[in-house]
Amino acid sequence: MALIVQKFGGTSVGDADRIRAVADHIARTRRQGNDVVAVVSAMGKSTDDLLRLAGAVCSTTPPPREMDMLLTSGERISMSLLCMALADLGVPAASFTGSQAGIITDNEHTRAKILEIRPDRLSAAIAEGMVPVVAGFQGMSTDRDITTLGRGGSDVTAVALGAALGADVCEIYTDVTGVFSADPRVVPTAKRLAHISFDEMNEMAATGGRVLMLRSVEFARSHHVPLHVRSSFTWEPGTWVVEEDESMEQAIVSAVTHDTSEAKVTVAGVPDRPGIAAHLFRALADRAVNVDMIVQNTSANGTTDISFTVPRVDLAAAVEVAESLRAELGFVEVTSDSSIARLSVIGAGMKSHPGVTATMFETLASLGVNIEMISTSSIRISCVVDEAVVEDAMRAVHAAYGLG
Ligand code: ASP
Ligand code: MG
Repeated sequence: MALIVQKFGGTSVGDADRIRAVADHIARTRRQGNDVVAVVSAMGKSTDDLLRLAGAVCSTTPPPREMDMLLTSGERISMSLLCMALADLGVPAASFTGSQAGIITDNEHTRAKILEIRPDRLSAAIAEGMVPVVAGFQGMSTDRDITTLGRGGSDVTAVALGAALGADVCEIYTDVTGVFSADPRVVPTAKRLAHISFDEMNEMAATGGRVLMLRSVEFARSHHVPLHVRSSFTWEPGTWVVEEDESMEQAIVSAVTHDTSEAKVTVAGVPDRPGIAAHLFRALADRAVNVDMIVQNTSANGTTDISFTVPRVDLAAAVEVAESLRAELGFVEVTSDSSIARLSVIGAGMKSHPGVTATMFETLASLGVNIEMISTSSIRISCVVDEAVVEDAMRAVHAAYGLG
């Protein structure tokens, strides 16, 4: 008998029929002799609807405490309806808000981090033979206010509960059948992966693979919670995200991702002396601008160019911060480009195989695609290219590594 955490995303509980189908699946999982803890997202796109409502009553940024109170209501609807559907099938179930489930967070409204979980009420419910149904994406702060964990945060709730309860697996049910070698809407030949390592999944989530929220993958990796990403429409086995197994032959490249959410800023003609980068990036950090890739090159005349990427939503702030330092740092100009895309290839096997980078560069060269920035980790290569060509480039790179 296993303890299984089953997380159902917004589309999985999008309407009454979907909620009944989910209840049915939970009942079936129990009949197979397992204990189940369910975690739900808000129905369909209802979190977006709530955000729009907030914008309609408040022309400035709404008070974050009230935003959290509002947004957590979406998950309350789906959790209580799921319990009703389970009752209808004769399955004893009880709903729990994040706070009732013992999820304690810091005080950062709208992007709180989980500090601790005290799952006694959930454990007691399981011991009584019930299915606890927990509202995803929320907790209670150390100041005893209601908080949310950031968009997509139900994944984090599920993984954190899996860790706290010592679950055997955390199943993430969604509207796709698993994790693919590339976004199938862009690359029609993309294949579902039977398994992928935490490290690879982490790189995918960080570079535009939208299946799992990044923080949930980091959490699963550090707490050793196996994940199984699968579809609530077909219920077929999906992709296992597990610890890398040394005995397993690693695919050299497992997946290709793309991300068009970033923009590039270049600060040109910067004097080449110690402390300049420290000054610039401290100022960006103080404005809470999240810098991703950074490239610096020194020219012969003692000046350097520093290019970096930031989320497009932060572009204006980043340019403003850089401009404000022009006199102090003595650089020539700040330029920016918001129509860039980042193309990445990911694979645990590239650690031990030479030539992986050359294949990517040759493929891009054969398409006449210019590489604007490059960054790598031991299992990832990323290139920044023009957004207009990224989808063609993805298809070509996917084929070049034989992933189709
Ligand atoms: N309902 C929240 C959102 O849309 C949390 C989640 O679905 O994971 O972001
Ligand atoms: Mg989600």
